[in-house]
Amino acid sequence: MKDKLGTIPRIIPNMSDYDAFCSQFSWEKEYESLDGLPEGGINIAHEAVDRHANSDIRDTVAIRWIRKDQSFEDITYADLKLRTSRFANVLEKLKIKKGDSVFSLTGRIPLLYVAALGTLKTGAIFCPMFSVFGPEPAFQRLSKGKAKVLVTTTKLYEKTIKQLLDRLPFLQTILLVDAERHRNDKVWSLSVLMNEVTDEYTIKNTQPEDPALLHFTSGTTGMPKGALHVHKAVLTHFVTGKYVLDFHPGDVFWCTADPGWVTGTSYGIIAPLVNGVTNIIDEEEFDAARWYSILEEHRVNIWYTSPTAIRRLMRMDLKPLESYNLSTLRLIHSVGEPLQVEEVVWGKKTFGMPICDNWWQTETGGIMISNYASMEVRPGSMGKPLPGIEAAIGTIEGEKIQLLTKPLEQGHLLLKSGWPSMFRAYLDEEERYKKCFKGEWYLTGDLAKKDADGYYWFVGRADDIIKTSGHMVGPFEVESALMEHPAVAEAAIIGKPNAMIGELVKAFVVLEPRFEADEMTKLDIKGFSRKKLGPAIAPKEIEFIDSLPKTKSGKILRRLLKARELGLPEGDTSTLE
Ligand code: AMP
Repeated sequence: MKDKLGTIPRIIPNMSDYDAFCSQFSWEKEYESLDGLPEGGINIAHEAVDRHANSDIRDTVAIRWIRKDQSFEDITYADLKLRTSRFANVLEKLKIKKGDSVFSLTGRIPLLYVAALGTLKTGAIFCPMFSVFGPEPAFQRLSKGKAKVLVTTTKLYEKTIKQLLDRLPFLQTILLVDAERHRNDKVWSLSVLMNEVTDEYTIKNTQPEDPALLHFTSGTTGMPKGALHVHKAVLTHFVTGKYVLDFHPGDVFWCTADPGWVTGTSYGIIAPLVNGVTNIIDEEEFDAARWYSILEEHRVNIWYTSPTAIRRLMRMDLKPLESYNLSTLRLIHSVGEPLQVEEVVWGKKTFGMPICDNWWQTETGGIMISNYASMEVRPGSMGKPLPGIEAAIGTIEGEKIQLLTKPLEQGHLLLKSGWPSMFRAYLDEEERYKKCFKGEWYLTGDLAKKDADGYYWFVGRADDIIKTSGHMVGPFEVESALMEHPAVAEAAIIGKPNAMIGELVKAFVVLEPRFEADEMTKLDIKGFSRKKLGPAIAPKEIEFIDSLPKTKSGKILRRLLKARELGLPEGDTSTLE
């Protein structure tokens, strides 16, 4: 089976000169590379599956699913077309209409991917949830998204969903992926239904602005919000797949994210399939040795992961290039949180190539700022805007935006609104949505800087910024400095209200195992950071902690640390790992 997957040596990137490419880029021109549907229609599943199933790559492996025991199953584009059509027919049978919501709560199994793409074929909206969600976060999402159908497993149904049924009046049907027979008129066996329908289905002629995907944001601020994306978003997935992840025919791609996080949908499902490459899906959770063996055995060419995973690999002290044959790997990307200089440098030392950081959010639907295969990587920088994306740094005062043009001025990261995968709503929260825009600019909620050469540098979330003795302190800056101390494995910074200086900088530190959590170590780290950062912004308080609270997508929940510190309510913790 291995031979079905291609091995691509060094290759010329699809975008060989960033500046030249930007100057002639047009979304309209790229749109022409997609198939489209009659009368100006477009459908994500058609672009991702059916058009390839009807072409000469029909027998290419679309999805290689690696089971927990490391055996694997291949699904070709032709096969994926049939399976997703069957699922679409099941939804038709259940009278699911365009605009209805279909949710999933499963691990990474083929039926999750079949359900996602099959739902998109019908014009219904798909919303994947993390399988580790407990009843409350599942309830919040299912009720907010008015889920009509839920695809799940028997175990998760029993553990998480059954107790919620009385509170979910919209939920008509639960499809159990592993049940052999129907349970009652609400809880059905998906396989029985799949066997009762045909695998022929005419994709609904969805229009570019028709809703397609719903993703709840990670909850780093406030309650989860449902960001709604439309079918036209597929153009961003196509473009970023081609020019950021640099997909070439025959490539094997592995995105380690779960579809419960937007990265696992945009890049764990859509972008690779739209570009006709082979998409690796691993059922299992993080395991350093397993991950390296997947890269080797499945001859992965492009690997997309997160800083948390990279830091975990760094701590393992395995030597991948000595123990594994990773000769097919040609590009590594990372997203989700700041990728520190030392992590980029480690990538270079460990894999012979820098890890390329890129930046985006649930709301942007796809990669907006990135390092590229053909561009010099500046460690610590998120890179430059995607061709077709206009980014800027600015200040916001009331309704006014003032763009900052001097290099390295710190301000809000802004994006000129209107890109294809921009979210079109926060579900039922129009005011909250409107607040994200000022004039033509979308406010990302992040603070950043731009250097003289146009590279963007992340500073922090606007709402995590600390004001101490009149200084603006970005947590990223302080945390990066602390992590250079040999005793510090991880660090998170909060601003603790203080009558004298506004807020004082407090650090929560996870120690490397060989260090003692005592006063000596504390003093040493304090001294080190004062030296590194100056007394104005170095942490005045340090507390040792066993682990940092993080979202399932790996972001530190600083606001939770702050709430705990101040004895305030913890707020929404549904995305807590
Ligand atoms: P989410 O919507 O959960 O994907 O979170 C988006 C947020 O994650 C952004 O607004 C940033 O605060 C953070 N983020 C994503 N990518 C990066 C990156 N490359 N560097 C720093 N922060 C990032």
